[in-house]
Amino acid sequence: MRLLVVEDDPLIARSLDSALTPLGNTVEIFSRGAEARAALRHDAFDLILLDLGLPDGDGLGLLAELRERGDTTPVLILTARDGVDDRVRGLDLGADDYLAKPFSLAELEARVRALLRRSQQRSDNRLRLGPLAFDPATGAATLGEAPLELPRRELCLLEGLLLHAGSIAPREMLEGRVFGFGAVGSNALEVYVSRLRKRLQGSGLRIRTFRGLGYRLEDAPP
Ligand code: CA
Repeated sequence: MRLLVVEDDPLIARSLDSALTPLGNTVEIFSRGAEARAALRHDAFDLILLDLGLPDGDGLGLLAELRERGDTTPVLILTARDGVDDRVRGLDLGADDYLAKPFSLAELEARVRALLRRSQQRSDNRLRLGPLAFDPATGAATLGEAPLELPRRELCLLEGLLLHAGSIAPREMLEGRVFGFGAVGSNALEVYVSRLRKRLQGSGLRIRTFRGLGYRLEDAPP
């Protein structure tokens, strides 16, 4: 999953990153609201973790803007233990859940999992196509009955393709998942697509290229 963290406390930001990245997520961290706003204008995320006390303003302002323009990306607000008013205002403004600081990483992971599950309206955590299943919460993929061991970037790619299974996964979205924020070489993504194709050989699954558009993961008949 692609997560946006808006948090100006470097220790908290780092602990969020080190808890969520090993689960197969791509985590973008911004310490200022303005940077997060810029990222949100041209990029899509699966979940936003939003601190309320930011150096350039209130995180609630960012949340309100997001909801005003109809963006329904799930938002988990991070508040101080005694910030009851903030929590209520946050939920009223359209936050999906909150986490009071200091929080345990186990609680963080559980809440992130629940929000992602709810937002994708899946009854369990798995994404599936044909013989392939992927659990975004644990980063575990299986092909048939066998575990499919993938390096992190291939996992991010697989997840992006699975989220769009049956339709074309846009190239920019996949690049964002695989490489994170920033520019990448024009054929960098292709390298990971061809690695993933090799691993899927013989499974009945294939990744079709749509020039200039993106890729589609298909369950092809044998
Ligand atoms: Ca803060």
